[in-house]
Amino acid sequence: MAPTVAVVDLRSDTVSQPTAQMRARMASAEVGDDVYGEDPTVNELEARTAAIFGKEAGLFVPSGTMGNLLAIMVHCHRRGTEALVGDLSHIFLYEQGGASHLAGVQLATLKNEQDGTFSLQELRRRIRHDDYHEPITSLVVVENTHNICGGKVVPLTFLDELAALVRQPGVGTGSARIALHMDGARVFNAAASLGVGVERICRDFDSVSICLSKSLSAPVGSVLVGGKDFIAEARRLRKALGGGMRQVGILAAAGLVALEEVVPLLGKDHERTKKIAKAIHALQSPNVTVDLETVQSNILLVEITQPNLTASEFSTRLGTVEPEELETGLTDAYGSGIVVKASARDWAFARLVLYHQVDDQQVELAIRKLEYVIGQYDKRWPRA
Ligand SMILES: *Cc1c(COP(=O)(O)O)cnc(C)c1O
Repeated sequence: MAPTVAVVDLRSDTVSQPTAQMRARMASAEVGDDVYGEDPTVNELEARTAAIFGKEAGLFVPSGTMGNLLAIMVHCHRRGTEALVGDLSHIFLYEQGGASHLAGVQLATLKNEQDGTFSLQELRRRIRHDDYHEPITSLVVVENTHNICGGKVVPLTFLDELAALVRQPGVGTGSARIALHMDGARVFNAAASLGVGVERICRDFDSVSICLSKSLSAPVGSVLVGGKDFIAEARRLRKALGGGMRQVGILAAAGLVALEEVVPLLGKDHERTKKIAKAIHALQSPNVTVDLETVQSNILLVEITQPNLTASEFSTRLGTVEPEELETGLTDAYGSGIVVKASARDWAFARLVLYHQVDDQQVELAIRKLEYVIGQYDKRWPRA
């Protein structure tokens, strides 16, 4: 029997599924106790990821949140330190303020611009000086691609200027060096979009945390990369956070497949994301729009411009099959209605995210549903 609905789940790339190749490699992975450093598959994943990023060492961690927290803990090891992050960054919005409640580090925010950057002038003003009243500025974090800004690829020129600024003599507190960390949960998407390697993007960064479980489709895990001493200290602190794992090569095996098999295909996700964006844009709807210029990777922000409509209502509507949809043939090849899942929260936009399992057929279904629902709105609220 055909399923009653065909679901295209675009809420997040975290819903991506491990590939068949991942499952096969997981089943046959050689393993050992990783807390003893004896898991060959974990060691391979760490070494290989470090090499790809041009860094000395890597550390496999359960989540991106732990990767970011460890980076903050190591870079801001002195008491009384401050880390500067974007006000729309994942670290500030979605990690429970772990930097403060677990690491004892004060987070200060810089206003994120729409392109995922922040003002370097403002940063310069916000870096602390030699003054006993002030915390010590120890770290600046850049998120790339920038999630809430819509999968924005942070420009290389910005990264270069940022590095030049924090490394300038006399910037910061005494001899304290200001470290740079990249929350690179989706930095491979940035690389695919720019057509350069991740090592170039992260060249001047002391550490990078990447997610294997987002656009890379692995079931779990992140890798933190950086210098040898930095990783040694992060490895020590990972144990304190409960992140010391045993025969975890089972999971690292999926990460290796992600690097080999999924990374080279990220450009395809970007093309499909653009295809959906173009279809919405072509409707020229007064109610629901996309700015094509801003679609740079696998995340699409759909702006709701109709004041009587919220992004949550739009998402709910996309997730509903009305009887007349079936009557008018808005179905898949088996006659099932189409459900598109999007995320909205209390944002002014709905977010659609593509990943490995969203194929051309699913994109086609999603476009037809979006065209139908937006078309209904346009009949109800025509252009004035
Ligand atoms: C998902 C995400 C993280 C955290 O990863 P988890 O594995 O969910 O802890 C960090 N930064 C960004 C930008 C993310 O999208």
